[in-house]
Amino acid sequence: MSALELRAVCKSYGAVAAVQNVDLRVETGSRTAIVGASGSGKTTLLRVIAGFEAPDAGSVILNGKVLADGSHTIPAHKRAIGFVPQDGALFPHLTVAANIGFGLAGNSSTRAQRIAELMDMVALGREMLGRWPHELSGGQQQRVALARALAQRPQLMLLDEPFSALDTGLRAATRKAVAQLLSAAGITTILVTHDQAEALSFADQLAVMRNGRLVQAGTSMDIYLRPVDEATAVFLGDAVVLPAQLENGWADCALGRIPADDDGRNGAAQIMLRPEQLQLSAIAPSGADAKGCTGTITDMDFGGSACMLTVRLNASAASAVGSDASRSLLVRSSSIQAPPVGATVRITVTGRAHVFNAPTP
Ligand code: ADP
Ligand code: MG
Repeated sequence: MSALELRAVCKSYGAVAAVQNVDLRVETGSRTAIVGASGSGKTTLLRVIAGFEAPDAGSVILNGKVLADGSHTIPAHKRAIGFVPQDGALFPHLTVAANIGFGLAGNSSTRAQRIAELMDMVALGREMLGRWPHELSGGQQQRVALARALAQRPQLMLLDEPFSALDTGLRAATRKAVAQLLSAAGITTILVTHDQAEALSFADQLAVMRNGRLVQAGTSMDIYLRPVDEATAVFLGDAVVLPAQLENGWADCALGRIPADDDGRNGAAQIMLRPEQLQLSAIAPSGADAKGCTGTITDMDFGGSACMLTVRLNASAASAVGSDASRSLLVRSSSIQAPPVGATVRITVTGRAHVFNAPTP
């Protein structure tokens, strides 16, 4: 069952169409990541869901209840939606305990008990209760903001780039802890981020926004391997994009004839491979074994355990399908096995090439 459903949601600020015609379904108990470049409308969409903004058109439905339908809206505090904004936004003049207990009903002892429970949930020690926000690290502040949002027992939790201020190690650890905590509590979650690695690791469902529009939604794996277009492909990671001729499920391209993931289309198309689908094996620079697709390593970008190699295709391969003779590819390789710069290599492909949709005229 869908917990949240957005239907044709639109929101403009003056001439800026921040969110245009967005349809999205989020399943109960699942984790969705909304990704997109800065300014693509992610925060605006969260604010419409939370009820801080009314949509200009469209509807927001949570667990079958209509929260907004055009200009008719239910106020934010009646929505049972938790919201952790980009900067955490703790009240600076309140202690940790008072921040978490801010909207809590009940007498002082039931409130204290609930605050203690929430501190446990977000793994903050009791000794933090009397501290002020400025006495906490960035990660601790985010945990307090999360505890404050959890205090309202939300059906839906919205997280707006909550980890962006944390440094890399803490960021991954906090993300994992928060994901586990929300899953254990069965809370449907939407995370907004401009970090593709964070989105891919966090989400069951990925929703990609560009210029106010939702360009694609699906599982992380599906969108990574089958993006709708080149811009989405490169947003989610490195990609090798080549012109090809399709024929009954095969793509003829500079890498030879490789299986394609669309057997219903024939003729010219753009295809995509992820760099990890390409393997290199060193061969003698000239000679009998130089058949198949070959190239020369022209650059190596060392990245620790893995490295990224630039391979210039040899002339006959490059000219196979109308591409320019100087075409280069990126290939990811384990650092230990990487052939050196200058080596001649054979390139083999694993898996299928993804065929981009034909551009709509
Ligand atoms: P993101 O969170 O993806 O970075 P936003 O939703 O914050 O994007 O912004 C989307 C667009 O709407 C941007 O062009 C931004 O400048 C504009 N925008 C956002 N909030 C307002 C506002 N309160 N008033 C005017 N323009 C806004
Ligand atoms: Mg934002």
